[in-house]
Amino acid sequence: MSYKSKFGFGCMRLPLTDENNPTSVDQELFEKMVDTYMEHGFNYFDTSYAYHGGVSETAIRKALVERYPRESFQICDKMPTWALTCEEDNDKFVNEMLERLGIEYFDVFFIHNINTPWFKLAENANSFEYVKKMKENGTAKKIGFSFHDTSELLEKVLDKYADILDVVQLQLNYLDWEDPVIESRKCYELCVKHGLDVYVMEPLKGGVIVNAPDEIKNDFKNFDPDRSIANFAFRFAASLDNVKIVLSGMTKMEDMLDNINTFENFEVLNDKEYAFLEKMAEKLDESVAVQCSECGYCVDECPEMIPIPEYFSLFNISKNRPDENIYKLYFDKLADEKVPADNCTYCGTCLDYCTQKIDIPEELEKVCENFENGFSPYEEFG
Ligand code: SF4
Ligand code: SF4
Repeated sequence: MSYKSKFGFGCMRLPLTDENNPTSVDQELFEKMVDTYMEHGFNYFDTSYAYHGGVSETAIRKALVERYPRESFQICDKMPTWALTCEEDNDKFVNEMLERLGIEYFDVFFIHNINTPWFKLAENANSFEYVKKMKENGTAKKIGFSFHDTSELLEKVLDKYADILDVVQLQLNYLDWEDPVIESRKCYELCVKHGLDVYVMEPLKGGVIVNAPDEIKNDFKNFDPDRSIANFAFRFAASLDNVKIVLSGMTKMEDMLDNINTFENFEVLNDKEYAFLEKMAEKLDESVAVQCSECGYCVDECPEMIPIPEYFSLFNISKNRPDENIYKLYFDKLADEKVPADNCTYCGTCLDYCTQKIDIPEELEKVCENFENGFSPYEEFG
């Protein structure tokens, strides 16, 4: 397999016409991006039942399925594990997904977001057996699951099901490689041990890696002025042998063109670059207050409708600019226009949904304290 074929189009963060409405996909821009991606010889699209409230799948149908021959592209879709209540639900969701996409089969099909509570739901609904049958009857060419939990749980799942699966989709990037919560390296090595391919999600950790503080951005410029930070991050993931796909969720044409350049002129990361990224990971880790990837899963589930990632994003930005009171103004504006962060009732509903295992109520409390205390936020982070 060539490195070029590893570049996948992630359809979880499509361009929007209204940034406050995740279902308002900018179809015209998306189609232009699809055309550019296909013209350059790439062909892998990743979606799920849940992305953009279901609109990701229909947008792909219009931009791709209705405009290109079926054999010219690959589609990966994912079962909404959290919504499975019984065995019959597998069929119900799969039929709905095929219909939304306007296709007869999936190139890749995943059980979405296996973590401790949802592994139980998937087992109760017999979903592993179900996807095995999908492969046998041709509804899916490859099967697997996407994963958001510890290496301990991954080992348990693989010991039980690796024999029937082809792929595991992992969160993998240089910030999470040795992270004690995400454990990218350990999870990757377990997949290698079981002979499974790895598809990579969050290679930029939802933007945390590229939205680094200026000091880190300057370090990258000084190290190699001809490469973007994203270039390093994609090459970090794609240089691994068992990694066959690296997804990028692109909202701008500019980002797509940079990624095309990375994969068309791919260079495996060298030792000097690995050592540099290790240093940058340490520095970045110290500069982030909350490691939120802005996936948005928590927001739909919060009964109070608190815009959690927006508060965390402000918190992170403000950490690197503690002398700029402008972030307090943004915080006040956000709390005025949307639900205030201190509306959290500590119900805990969001916790199972957090892909980064963040203690959301505790972090929201810190957000409130920090902004309300007139902006002296970071004593505790040092
Ligand atoms: S714990 Fe707070 S943030 Fe989480 S779902 Fe409940 S109210 Fe929302
Ligand atoms: S708090 Fe967790 S679930 Fe919510 S957007 Fe951030 S990473 Fe995603």
